[in-house]
Amino acid sequence: MQEIGREILIVGAGVIGLSIARELSRRGIKRITIIDRGPAGHEATFAAGGMLAVQAETDEAGDFFELCSASRDRYPQFAAELGDETGIDIGLDQAGTLYLAFTGNDSREIDHRYNWQKNAGLNVERLSASETRKLEPFVSPDVREGLIFPDDWQVENRKLAAALLKFVALNGIELIEGTECRRLIVKNGRVIAAETSSGKVFAQQTIIAAGAWTSMIEADPVRVPEIRPIRGQIVGFQTAKRFFSHVIYSPRGYLIPRADGRILAGATVEDVGFENLMTPAGIEYVRRNAFEIAPSISGLKIAEEISGLRPKAADALPVIGGFPHVENLIVASGHYRNGILLAPITADAVADIVVGNRVSSLIRSFGVDRTSLSG
Ligand SMILES: Cc1cc2nc3c(=O)[nH]c(=O)nc-3n(C[C@H](O)[C@H](O)[C@H](O)COP(=O)(O)OP(=O)(O)OC[C@H]3O[C@@H](n4cnc5c(N)ncnc54)[C@H](O)[C@@H]3O)c2cc1C
Repeated sequence: MQEIGREILIVGAGVIGLSIARELSRRGIKRITIIDRGPAGHEATFAAGGMLAVQAETDEAGDFFELCSASRDRYPQFAAELGDETGIDIGLDQAGTLYLAFTGNDSREIDHRYNWQKNAGLNVERLSASETRKLEPFVSPDVREGLIFPDDWQVENRKLAAALLKFVALNGIELIEGTECRRLIVKNGRVIAAETSSGKVFAQQTIIAAGAWTSMIEADPVRVPEIRPIRGQIVGFQTAKRFFSHVIYSPRGYLIPRADGRILAGATVEDVGFENLMTPAGIEYVRRNAFEIAPSISGLKIAEEISGLRPKAADALPVIGGFPHVENLIVASGHYRNGILLAPITADAVADIVVGNRVSSLIRSFGVDRTSLSG
């Protein structure tokens, strides 16, 4: 690999690394290089469901909810600008999300969500069983009640990755695939170079966006936060017509109807190390929960099976920020179940740090020095 100086090196070309590269380029930064040990955009970013599930995924008002909401609010503009920049429609679907109860416990969960979200002034409505089935006739007759979150949307995450990659290609950002970053050489409080499988790479600023593999990158004496892989298995059904118009959640699973007739059903949440594969038990678990929501899809053939590794920090929250004693190193990882949702705000936050803008206290609360990360 050529040993030329770069302004920015980004390690990892998933949705997080690619979104950061785009935002830095839009802010006028030149000589950006992204390296990925595999093909770009093919790990968690490819496997994801693409739900922008702020109200379905959060349990209380607080910083994480604020972060998710702020990122979701950026999506209409993010999608429109990416469309203008690349000609790729990333399939932002704003029909909303239904959250269903099938058991007494599920109804208690619905009570809890409805109460905290109403108190927080959020857009949420309660539906009876018959109202739920009127809205989505293929939902099981066993449904007890539902909530509708009009502001929880979805996006076609693979098209999002394709659009970001096209942006990279059109804007002179260097993308090097098949190259692994093994170690960052840190001296006197600065990253001097990245040692990669293709030689050393020099850059003024390094950004680690390596998803579930983040803490495998050595950066002695810097302690890169521990990020664990959490496997998720998803199955996809192909239908000729669209069965559902909303994303549909239960406390055990979800169905994501795509514009092209696919229905994605997910997902397992498994702490099994780096074993990124489908298992018969995982497929069975996902199918069972999908058919609980909509027994009428049980006759459909599985058209796709895919697994991915979600990056999870010790406190299950994203890790975004610089390091106290290293001036030119930033990490953006740990996005766990919500990396597609959180890509726009993460990109903005990292770009603000790089260009020296003031970073909000909200973003600072997801920094590397928080105590909950060491647990
Ligand atoms: C089944 C499933 C469903 C999901 N559903 C949703 C959803 O509906 N909504 C949502 O918002 N999120 C969802 N997620 C979570 C989301 O996919 C992740 O949070 C997000 O993709 C993380 O993006 P990333 O760029 O950090 O990681 P990744 O997409 O995994 O990318 C990391 C990249 O870094 C590269 N890399 C790693 N180590 C190195 C190295 N040493 N050198 C060079 N390159 C390296 C990898 O090859 C990879 O390409 C889901 C995840 C799964 C698995």
